[in-house]
Amino acid sequence: MRRLRSVKIVATLGPASSTYEMIRGLHEAGADVFRLNMSHGSHDEIAERHAIIRQVEKDCDSTIGILADLQGPKLRVGVFANGEEELVEGASFRLDLADEEGTATRVTLPHSEIFAALEPGAHLLVNDGKIRLKVETCGADFADCTVITGGTISNRKGVNVPDVVLPLAALSDKDREDLEFVSELGVDWLALSFVQRAQDVIEARELCKGRAAILSKIEKPAGVKAFEEILEVSDGIMVARGDLGVELPVQNVPPIQKRLIRRCRSAAKPVIVATQMLESMIESPMPTRAEVSDVATAIYEGSDAIMLSAESAAGDYPIEAVTTMNNVAIEVESDPTYTEIIEASRTAKRQTVADGIVAAAREIAETTDIKAICCFTSSGTTALLTARERPRVPIIAMTSSVRTARRLALTWGTECVLTGELERFKQAVVNAARAARAGKYAEPTDQILVTAGVPFNTPGTTNILRVAPCDERLIYNTDPE
Ligand code: PGA
Ligand code: MN
Repeated sequence: MRRLRSVKIVATLGPASSTYEMIRGLHEAGADVFRLNMSHGSHDEIAERHAIIRQVEKDCDSTIGILADLQGPKLRVGVFANGEEELVEGASFRLDLADEEGTATRVTLPHSEIFAALEPGAHLLVNDGKIRLKVETCGADFADCTVITGGTISNRKGVNVPDVVLPLAALSDKDREDLEFVSELGVDWLALSFVQRAQDVIEARELCKGRAAILSKIEKPAGVKAFEEILEVSDGIMVARGDLGVELPVQNVPPIQKRLIRRCRSAAKPVIVATQMLESMIESPMPTRAEVSDVATAIYEGSDAIMLSAESAAGDYPIEAVTTMNNVAIEVESDPTYTEIIEASRTAKRQTVADGIVAAAREIAETTDIKAICCFTSSGTTALLTARERPRVPIIAMTSSVRTARRLALTWGTECVLTGELERFKQAVVNAARAARAGKYAEPTDQILVTAGVPFNTPGTTNILRVAPCDERLIYNTDPE
């Protein structure tokens, strides 16, 4: 589906968005990638949504990315006899391993590893950081805390322990089951929650066996600290501001967001900015000015994708939320200041022939009236390198691999067109010209740029840059084989 913007939109599916009509509506309104959140929903529900997305993709003749988000080692308290309790400042509250319903003075925290790692003075944050507890004394199976900031605690609320590098396995048993399930189902991206070290990513990659690309969610101080090593072994990154803003002071989030976006761009790996982008639209058809500004900022910073969570999964206005993002993106990207910022922040070190070719492609496209850069790519790497250059003209990634096409749904400015297996370069140029015309990027009298690696189907061989006419007769008459 032709978009009028380069930044991509990720929409999380949930109870508010599980029908064919709604998922198709979200895609038509602008969602390029759908997120299946493994923290909610049974395997049957996930499989059903997955099948609907693939149907919508077929019916709309689009390429849609699917991102399965593993819950990761998210800590949660148990349940309360009364469903909830009020914790008041200064009171004592105990967390333990007892298999009993919670009361006003204690609740179960069913993770023995945590008690082993806790120390007096550590803080525990409950329910998105709204409640703050300080550990006074602790042992192998309990922690006695003082309530620093009170509030209502209820069944299965999340717990964050920012001060401690947790000795938790990167993947819980549930994550392993979910990983196998979605990998078999066929997803394009696998997101890992609460990544603390590069080894967490390597472990997941071994289990995934190439069935999906791996995206690391940066949402813990340890993940921020080990970011460079994590980026190195990941295919993409999510700035997961929800948990990040609980585990770190909220004011630390914007600078981290900026830095991570820049680093991902220079590594040519897609980055998603996530959480609370249009939070008020869960209940209102209109966003706040601050939210619009937040969405705009992520785009000005050069993020590949922006994400909706509860807004599209459980809110009253999923379509309106996607439409808002789409409209903000179109407006920002047509602002000359956007182009200035994006072009001033090209930092990539160029080291390979492919780097040079994509940089030259951008340069030529900006010097003359070129309508699109068509890059032939099997693994997707050439498209990623081209996107890193952030050219002013559209990028059409031509690939025979549907997997590559779907993964690139997350990448800035890249539209994918599926080609058959190609052998001759002339045929490739004809295909590119047809794709540019079919997508209404170019008329027969226009010119496009074609980059490719010949011989075809040998990854990592980008070695041709051709300025081509969009008129097939001209190509047949002038091009060498
Ligand atoms: P979550 O991750 O929605 O799975 O918690 C995103 C975030 O923490 O921002
Ligand atoms: Mn999170």
